[in-house]
Amino acid sequence: TIGLVAVDRNGDVAAGTSTNGLNFKIPGRIGDSPIAGSGAYADNTVGGAAATGDGDVMLRFNPSFLTVEEMRRGASPTTAAQTAIARIASYYPSFSGAVIAVTKDGEYGAACHGLQTFPYVVQDISRETCELININCS
Ligand code: ASP
Repeated sequence: TIGLVAVDRNGDVAAGTSTNGLNFKIPGRIGDSPIAGSGAYADNTVGGAAATGDGDVMLRFNPSFLTVEEMRRGASPTTAAQTAIARIASYYPSFSGAVIAVTKDGEYGAACHGLQTFPYVVQDISRETCELININCS
């Protein structure tokens, strides 16, 4: 899955995912990617989030929605994403996945579980090129 969160110069927030990229999926499987709140979620007053990973597990927890709601409560994007990832891991310790998050002000972060590292890319008007960030998942 490719997930993205964008904030434009008017402050409008958007989040989305590609159609799911799960290997060997059964025909007709929808997965988490197109489910609002699970694959992605955006709220202009807060920010947005997008998720990737074991969709059959993750969609039960609406991790993108939870991440945005945590940011609404004042959590940083990283802490908010960690909360959503930890919630899933508390029920499914062996799941693999990640959440990226951006506030409406452009603060960003991510959290992951069950992988060694998780790469994501950031671009904003202060940068000439994209920055590749790798976070540790353990
Ligand atoms: N979340 C996707 C799915 O389970 C897979 C992925 O993120 O790569 O359909």
